Parts: sequence; C-alpha cells; structure tokens
Amino acid sequence: MKLYVKTFGCQMNVHDSRRIEEIFRSAGYTMTVDPREADVALINSCTIREKAWHKAISETGRLRKLKRGRRDIIVGIVGCVAQQEGERIFDLIPGVDMVIAPDHYGQLVELVEEVKLREDTLVLTGFDRGRPEDFLTPGPGTSRREATAFVTIMKGCQERCAYCIVPTVRGPERHRPIEDVESEVRGLVASGVVEVTLLGQKVNAYQSGEVGFAELLRRLDSVEGLERLRFTSPHPRHMTPDVTSSFGRLRSLCESIHLPVQSGSSRILSRMGRRYNVEDYLLVVSKLREACPAIGISTDLIVGYPGETNEDFAETLALIDRVGFSGAFSFKYSPRPGTRAASLDDDVPQDEKVRRLDAVHERIENLERRWRGSMVGTKLEVLVTNEGRMPGQVSGRARNSQIVNFVPTDGSTIDDLVGRLVEVEVTAAHSHSLEGKPAIR
Ligand code: SF4
Repeated sequence: MKLYVKTFGCQMNVHDSRRIEEIFRSAGYTMTVDPREADVALINSCTIREKAWHKAISETGRLRKLKRGRRDIIVGIVGCVAQQEGERIFDLIPGVDMVIAPDHYGQLVELVEEVKLREDTLVLTGFDRGRPEDFLTPGPGTSRREATAFVTIMKGCQERCAYCIVPTVRGPERHRPIEDVESEVRGLVASGVVEVTLLGQKVNAYQSGEVGFAELLRRLDSVEGLERLRFTSPHPRHMTPDVTSSFGRLRSLCESIHLPVQSGSSRILSRMGRRYNVEDYLLVVSKLREACPAIGISTDLIVGYPGETNEDFAETLALIDRVGFSGAFSFKYSPRPGTRAASLDDDVPQDEKVRRLDAVHERIENLERRWRGSMVGTKLEVLVTNEGRMPGQVSGRARNSQIVNFVPTDGSTIDDLVGRLVEVEVTAAHSHSLEGKPAIR
C-alpha cells in the first residue's frame, strides 16, 4: 500500500506531514511522490494563508481526475482547513472521501479502513484533551539517517490575534509534560539526531508544572549529544529576560531566531490584537543582541492590514532598517473567514498592497544580501543534512540558519557526512545560500 502526502502551508504542517508518514509507515505503507501510484492520497493544507488553500484546492482537482480512472484511491483533506471547513469541503471539492482535523492523525490508518468499509465519506474534527499520548511525534526518517528533528512541545493558541484563524482551528493551548519532551529528545539523540527544533504555535509560552520555557531550554541543553537547539514560533510577549539571556549562554542554543513582529506601527499592532507595541519588540531585540551579538533575527510581516496608512507602512519600513532583519516572510493581508479582522473594512487597495509588499521584499533582500556578504571569509560550523544542487556538493545549515553548500575535499560522500558538523570557510554569498570549502585546521 502506498501513501502520497502533499503539504501546503506552515512549518507546523510540514512537521505534521512527517508525523502522518510515520504513522502510515508503521502500518506497513510505503511513501510515493507520484499520486498515480497511491492507494491513499492526503492533502495537508493550512488555512492561515488564502494562497495555501487555493493551491491545495487545485491539487485536489488533479486527484479528482485521477480518481475517475482509479475509484479505489482514498482522497483525504487534513490540516487546519479540515477543522475549519469540516463537511463543507465535500460540497466545495467533490471526490474527497475523508476530512480529518489535526488532533485525529493518530487514528488516520483506521479511518482509511473505515471509509473503505462504509463506502461513504467521513469527517472527524474537534480537539483532543492534550494528554501525553495526543502529542504523537515522528522519529527520524527511515530512508536515510536524519540529523534534525522537530519536537512538538505545545499546541493550540489562546492569543486571538485579530487576523489569525489558528485559535479556532488548532484549539486552546495544551502543553506537553516536561518528562515526555526530555525523553523524546534523548531518544532522538540516541538515534543520531543532533539538532532539535522545538515546535509550538506560541512555543515560548510553554509551561509544564513549575517548568517554564527557559528552564526547558536549560534542561535540553544538558542532553549529551544534542549539538543544536532551535525553536519556532515564539511570541514577542513571552520573550522574558530568562529566555533572551539563554542565547549566547546555552551551548546548544543556535544564534538565530524567527520572531514575528507583523507591523512596525504600534497603532496597527494594537488593531491586530498583538498585545505588544514597537517599543516592546525593540526592547526584546536589544536584549537578544546584548546576550548574543551574532544572532540573526528574522520575522513575519503583514502589509495592507485594514486601516494601514502610508505613515503606518513607513514605520514598518523604518523598523526593518532599525532591526536589520536577517530575513522575513512577508504577506499581503487577506481576510480569513472566521477571524475578527474579517469584519473590518479591507480598505487598502490591492495595487497598493502589492506596492507595499514589493517595497518590503526589496528592503529585506538588501539586508539579506548584506548579511550573507558579511560572512564571506569567515568560518561557519555546518550541520550536513543533504546533497547540494551541484554534483558532488553537500548541503547543510550553519548555526545562524544560513544554508551552506560545499564540496568535500577528503573523498567523503553524503552518506558519510549526514549528521556531521563540518567547519566550512565561506567563499561566496548567493541570493539564498552560501558556498564554501572545508576549512583547514
Ligand atoms: S499568536 Fe496570534 S498569530 Fe500566532 S497563532 Fe496565536 S493567534 Fe495566531
């Protein structure tokens, strides 16, 4: 039996798809990247961004055509969109057999069997209770020893930002017991993982009994063999001094953070319900830089939010320059059904949103280029994870999150190097990556 999974949306969805694959693998399935070979085809889509959902709909259209010739293939929609749309998906996209929300992935294999038996559609939405067993997480991949892994430490969000559907589709915050997190990380390290990324919608709000996020970082830092620790996505409101001061102090905590700001205007932040202002954000940035001067700070930005004036947008551009972000995911605002912001007047014209987005892209690209250029001639520790694009090249990430490609000079192959930390001298900076050569010790 073969499983095809196509993922659209955020990192949480990418992680969930790996988790789904693991569940099906343990039931005897193999994976395929060709839907024509699949017995089960799942579309895992985020509903946070309109674009992701539109792409998912068109992918489902392809599967529908496929299903005309292969009636036995089971087509399922999973992800936040399943939670939000539920049964409506069957009207929206004919040919779908099952709609399963994220908190029911543990039962997916059984649900596929049930759909086959019933010869009818099936929908399962709603939230789990956050019990330890509800935090299913995959081990490292089986095809090649993996060097990195995601570990979910909390799920859901109670922040209620006005534009965001996450609290509705992922439910209230549920935090995983510290013992479970520690034991999973130790297990991953024992199987060869050297870098762990802690995952949660508001990851730094983590709390397990008396143990908060900073203490969790400290405990994981003491796991022998864990070389690198990262986390995503933090909320600026929970970047407390004990968290910011962990950078530069904890051996494994990498010099990189993705810290969503969304807007450079305090007025717009307030309309977004972000519960911090620009000064609060800048204070966190200065604490991070104080603790770890080399830290790379990337962010998320929304342009054209309802009521965003030229002056508000100018403040966003000013903030980009002031912080000197090392990268950003930037989006044009689009109303998402079911959010508070959807009832606001979407008053920034499309062409103005496009102009603002272009201006943000241009600024961020300049900053990225400058930042990458500053690394030429320096040495970076690279964790090798996969083959590079050019023949003979291997690729990995530096601690500051930059992708670095290089050709091994000692005859090592990718299989020898996956999971190894290699010191690389950077020789060139490209638009999305760095190039280098193994450093001579
Ligand atoms: S913090 Fe805000 S943007 Fe992030 S998931 Fe929660 S509600 Fe959404």
